[in-house]
Amino acid sequence: MLIAVDCDGTVDVSGGPVPLELLKKLSERHTLFIIGNPWLAQHLPGIVPDQVGGKSATLKRWKAERPKHDRYIVVDDMPHQYEQGWEGWEFFTPVQFVEAFG
Ligand SMILES: [Mg+2]
Repeated sequence: MLIAVDCDGTVDVSGGPVPLELLKKLSERHTLFIIGNPWLAQHLPGIVPDQVGGKSATLKRWKAERPKHDRYIVVDDMPHQYEQGWEGWEFFTPVQFVEAFG
């Protein structure tokens, strides 16, 4: 599973509901990318800080470069940023993500 995580308003260290500890736990078994705020990568060993262009363009590129994952998850508090370009990704709000994976 490839999980792309927004930071601001999404992760608890930046005002959101997703515990950083949950991301650390998930990163042991899954590929985690930070989308939107690379500084969070400093708190998550093994996480991949990588963002070029807008969020939709970034997701499109990540999926194209890493086609072998069984699921592509994106979690963000602002879903309107993903109106296009993220086909094949499953969108979760931060609360939905915690309910599903916490
Ligand atoms: Mg955000």
